[in-house]
Order: sequence, then structure tokens, then C-alpha cells
Amino acid sequence: MPTSPSSPSPSPSSGGPGTGQHLLGDMPAESFRAAGYQIIDWIAEYLEKGPDAPILPQIEPGEISAQLPDSAPAEPRSIDELLEDFNNILYPGFTHWNSPRFMAYFPSTSSGPAILGELLAASVAQNVMLWRTGPAGTELEIRVLQWFREMLGLPEGFHGHIVDTASIATMLGLAAARESHAELKIRTLGAAGRDDLPPLTVYASEEAHSSVEKAAITLGFGMEQLRKIPTDEIFRMRPDLLREAIRSDIEKGYHPLGVVATVGTTSSTSIDPVPEIADICEEHRLWLHVDAAYGGVAAIVPEKRDIFAGCERADSLVVNPHKWLFTPVDCSTFYTRHPEVIEVMKAAFSLMPEYLSSEQDDDEALTNLMDYGIQLGRRFRALKLWMVLSYFGSEGLAGRLRFHMKLASDLATTIEGQSGVELMAPVNFATVCFRFLPEGADGEESDREEQEERIEKLNSGIMNRANASGEVFLSHTKLKGAYTLRLVIGHLRSSEQDVTEVWNLLTRLADEAG
Ligand SMILES: *Cc1c(COP(=O)(O)O)cnc(C)c1O
Repeated sequence: MPTSPSSPSPSPSSGGPGTGQHLLGDMPAESFRAAGYQIIDWIAEYLEKGPDAPILPQIEPGEISAQLPDSAPAEPRSIDELLEDFNNILYPGFTHWNSPRFMAYFPSTSSGPAILGELLAASVAQNVMLWRTGPAGTELEIRVLQWFREMLGLPEGFHGHIVDTASIATMLGLAAARESHAELKIRTLGAAGRDDLPPLTVYASEEAHSSVEKAAITLGFGMEQLRKIPTDEIFRMRPDLLREAIRSDIEKGYHPLGVVATVGTTSSTSIDPVPEIADICEEHRLWLHVDAAYGGVAAIVPEKRDIFAGCERADSLVVNPHKWLFTPVDCSTFYTRHPEVIEVMKAAFSLMPEYLSSEQDDDEALTNLMDYGIQLGRRFRALKLWMVLSYFGSEGLAGRLRFHMKLASDLATTIEGQSGVELMAPVNFATVCFRFLPEGADGEESDREEQEERIEKLNSGIMNRANASGEVFLSHTKLKGAYTLRLVIGHLRSSEQDVTEVWNLLTRLADEAG
């Protein structure tokens, strides 16, 4: 159990009341050093022993804010006091993503090297917008993304940079899709108020992430211009229906722009048939963006490389180290293929105001990463990714990912051999979709809807009780209308025992409910 990072009384050395330190200057170096050691000790214990609290906090909305003052303090407070508040007020409101039994959504580990990378990045305060404002940050980012591309088995020529999230990466991909049709002149004329511009359509499966919809809204395509292509029995986009949707839009005079294929969907981790989708994109000159936010990192494992079949033909692609690669939020990698695609991205976003220009910037060899996206100021995220890739090494990462996938497939085998529970989707990565069945639900029930309701009630009850125990955190989804529980193994410190004990807990709760 982590002990309190605080000591009970404010120490004068921490720059607190009476020190006179609050009028000018930063925290004194001595106070920083003392508090820093204390905090590192606290972190080390937290990581080693795990949270001393339920993984999903058992609190009501507003409970935390009720304990926070309405206004910021006018008088300085000591770090000791702040750490006391961290422990007493904030800690009970933490959802412990860094617990090995966080098995909801897609887990995210803050690993030791990544935490140290974040600390150092903040300390050297690099703003990696121009090469000049962060030469090491710029060059490290480009090099680390080349390493990562190679680790993922993607071909040379994919140019990568880091963005905050996959949602932004997908928006960038679709923005580039639009820019790739220069004849539409949207960059200069905009899209509003033009009679000469047909509706611009984009395509993704009905299982695609909601960020595709957000991108369609943000870029002004409109939600109605996003075609949600139905999926097959294992939740993969149906290329025949994609082809049909494109043909029908062209007939109507609409302008198809691009397709988002998903490698590892959020609900069931299904993998769209990218080779067939790439064929269709080529045929119609459509941009192909691959969303591999969760699943992409699995390609680090050599025998899993085939998840990226066809993705070498993508125009852009996103993989999130901040999901299953032991790197804290935020860190998402965005790749584009072919040098001319990079020019397209520059065309989409490069606007150099006078105050940022310098003679150096005319140098073609210089990369100013601000050109590759919307934001000007950019965090030095490459440092933590460099730390993670280097500290563990590609073999170390592959071994850890392989272990998670083994735990997941072993659990799937257990589920298949157990009565009263069914597997709801193939286990492509380390996510297991399943649900318990109430007595008699195996047989023919006259009313399907009624049966579905009983199943949902049983499974949501099991999940809520499991989450309330504080021992685990699971989440659910609906797969073609069927209520489904998801157990995702993705935390760096998850063990076989964690999975076994969680499964035993769920089985016991199911027995009690059944
Ligand atoms: C999680 C997820 C996203 C969104 O990721 P963010 O980085 O949180 O924006 C997008 N697509 C898929 C398939 C995901 O699983």
C-alpha cells in the first residue's frame, strides 16, 4: 500500500508561508530536491505495490470538487500541503489505470521509463514546433518514428510524427484526403456557400471508432456524409457493400474522398479486410486511412505482422503507443506514405507567420513539425517513446505483448470449455469478448428480445458487482445489439494470476446471480 507522500506539517523549506519566496522566482532548488525525492519514493511504491484503493473509485460525481476551494489561494501553500491534498482529496478520485487489474476499455500503462521520460521532457521544456525551437526534439521524433515504423514491419517511405491522440490523427488523415483533391480548392475557397461543390463522402465500418464521425463533423463533411458500412459475422467491414455505397454516391453526383479501415476495432478488435479495401480505394482514387490505434502495436510481434496485410498501401495510418505500449497518455503516432503525401500534409497545414520565419526555415532539409498538423506548440513526446522503445527493446516489447495475447487466448479457451458463458468474437489481440447466459437461455426462447433483456441484466449485474468490489475494472459493449463484456489484458504488470483471479471472481458472481 502506498503510504502518504506527505508529511503532516508544512516545512518552511518548501517555499511556504513566511519564507518570502512567493513574490519572485521559482521554488528554491533545495525544496524542489526534497519534494522531488519524496515524490519519486511515493511513485516507486505505488508502482511496486499497486493502488491502495478500488481500481474504479467508489465516489459520487461532485465529491471531489466539493472539497476544493472555490478560488485559487492568494497566499502560497507549501508542497507538503499540496501533497496532503493530493493524498486526501484527489487520490480517492483516481481511476487506477496503472493497476494490473484495469481491464476496461483499452488499458494504458505508465511504465517506469515513460514516467522518467515525461519528467525530463517537462524539465527541459522543449517546444518542438520548429527545428530551431527544439532541434533534438525534432530529430529524435523523426528518428524514433522511423524505428517504430520498422518495428511494426511497415515499409520505408512512411513518414511519421507524433500527435496527441488517434482521434486527431484520423482527422489529419481525412484532412489530407480532402487536400489530395486540390481541384476542389477547399484550402483557399472553403467548403461553405459553394454551388460548385458536391457533398464529400467518407466511408468506415459500422464498428469504426466515433472519432471518424467527429472528424466528419470537424472537417465539414457532415455526419450524414459518413457512410457506415455494415460488417460481417465477425465484425469486419464488408468490401462488397463498401463498393456498392461508393457506386451509389458517385451516381448521385457526390464526391467520395476516402475510407477509414480499422485494424482492431474498439468493441471487438475485429480487423477490416484491408487488401480488398485498398483495391477499391485505388480503383476510385480514394484516400485510405488505417485506424490501428489499439491493435497496431501487436505488429511488433513478428508472428502477428499479418495484421497489417494491405496496410503498406494505406495513405495514412495511426497507432497509439498510449494504449498498449506502456506509454502514458498522450502519445499517438501518425504515418503517411510516399513523399508526395507529406507534401500534401504540408499543403494542408503549413502557414508560416512572419514572427516564426527565419532564413534557416527555407532550408529544404529542415523539418518544422508544426507544418504537419494544426497545433503550433508541441510537447516533447518523443522522449518518453524513445525511453520506452529503448529501455525494453523490440524483443522485450514483443515478449510482453505476446504474453498478453497468450493470457487472452488461454482465457478464450477456458470460456469455450465452460458452460453458461459464450465467446462473442474472435480473440485477435488481447481483448476477450464474452457473456454469461442465464439458466435456460441456451435453448430456443420464443421471445428473442426478452432473452436479450435477461442476458443484459445478468451481465451488467455481474460487471457492476465486479467493479464495485474494487478488485477489477471491466467495461462492456454491444455487438450487433448483443450485450457483451470485455476483458482486456494490456497492462505491463498484469500476471497470469491476475487473469485467473478475475475470471474466478466473475464466475462466482455469475453463479450467485444465476
Ligand atoms: C481508442 C481508439 C481510438 C481513439 O483513440 P484516442 O487516442 O483516445 O483518440 C480510435 N480508434 C480506435 C480503433 C480506438 O480503439
